[in-house]
Amino acid sequence: MAHLSPLVRQATPVLAARGEGVYLYDDAGRAYLDFTAGIGVTGTGHCHPHVVEAAQRQVATLIHGQFTTVMHKPLLTLVERLGEVLPPGLDSVFFANSGSEAVEAAMRLARQATGRSNVIVFHGSFHGRTVGAASMTTSGTKFRAGFAPIMGGVTVAPFPYAYRYGWDEATAVRFALRELDYILATISAPRETAAFVIEPVLGEGGYVPAPKAFLEGLRERADAHGIVFVLDEVQTGFGRTGKFWGHQHADIRPDVVVMAKGIASGFPLSAIAASSELMAKAWPGSQGGTYGANAVACAAALATLDVIRDEKLVENSAAMGARLLEGARRIASEHARIGDVRGLGLMVGSEFTRSDGEPDVATAQRAQAAAAERGLLLLLCGTWGQVVRMIPALVVNAKQVDEALAIWAEAVREASAT
Ligand code: PMP
Repeated sequence: MAHLSPLVRQATPVLAARGEGVYLYDDAGRAYLDFTAGIGVTGTGHCHPHVVEAAQRQVATLIHGQFTTVMHKPLLTLVERLGEVLPPGLDSVFFANSGSEAVEAAMRLARQATGRSNVIVFHGSFHGRTVGAASMTTSGTKFRAGFAPIMGGVTVAPFPYAYRYGWDEATAVRFALRELDYILATISAPRETAAFVIEPVLGEGGYVPAPKAFLEGLRERADAHGIVFVLDEVQTGFGRTGKFWGHQHADIRPDVVVMAKGIASGFPLSAIAASSELMAKAWPGSQGGTYGANAVACAAALATLDVIRDEKLVENSAAMGARLLEGARRIASEHARIGDVRGLGLMVGSEFTRSDGEPDVATAQRAQAAAAERGLLLLLCGTWGQVVRMIPALVVNAKQVDEALAIWAEAVREASAT
């Protein structure tokens, strides 16, 4: 008899039988308010009728075209439609299946385009689990463990995580930019540095928005040194932060945007976008994959873009995100163990901190479990797992936000009583 590998660590006890909107249902018909959304994937909610219909139609027409063998219409139409939402100048798109693969595609593009080998990433970043992407990942203690040697050429620079440093944001930004300049002067010279890769909001690393001034400082340095500025929007794209792209909260222009998760409402699809000039410097044929730009995933992505536009989900994300953030802050104000609540749009994190200032992982875990018992599904993040994050579908309404907050208040009360 076969059994599921213990490599799988399940964060909640739920056996999901069915999903609809912001709810998951188990076999017994119990409803769970899903504030995990498949780790920020099902932005349009579970099984949105328009997405379901588009995917069903495509399944019956052409499932797999293999884009390096034949071209298909859903892919070509998706490129056009992405052109309507991508930042100006990013007019060339390449597809893969997962966030990790797309990050690796961006890294290879940057290395090929510049002829330089080094990549600079930031403390607490998560870029994926394939070896290249894992080499760029420091958001947890396990991601690079036990399979050395990892990919070379990666330097990890400080991220201005003001709360954990115990500084104000301006001081954290000044420190992080100064350290970056030190790295560029000593460890990873500009002529050897192909790319900066950063998330607009540290995701797995604890839901820490990158300060505007920091992103702008990176842009300046990228311009000064011909370094490719890669924004990993895998978790922050497609309306998640209350703007279409997370980096739009700052006044910057990325050279490459990496996208996945929210792009196709749960079908495996990812992509990178860059200018045609930059993309032309990649080596044709050096990238690809059997399943990239699967026709059903592309059809689902087209339907996802329709829903985001027609149901004004970016605006809803901003409005519901503000309500969720405010509610979570109100709850934190009554509980000393929550030291900080932060986020952008519908990415909201509550960070648990012990009285000695160290991360309070145990209370975060208890609060997450107590919420699940009461029917609210949440996930942990942060390097140690000290942050509880809320990341519901973008279709969430005020009643559901309030319901989740009421459960969260009880869960935190129970977790803090121990
Ligand atoms: N980048 C970011 C910012 C992510 O949040 C994730 C997934 N959590 C990835 C990359 C990797 O994506 P995937 O799991 O699809 O490989």
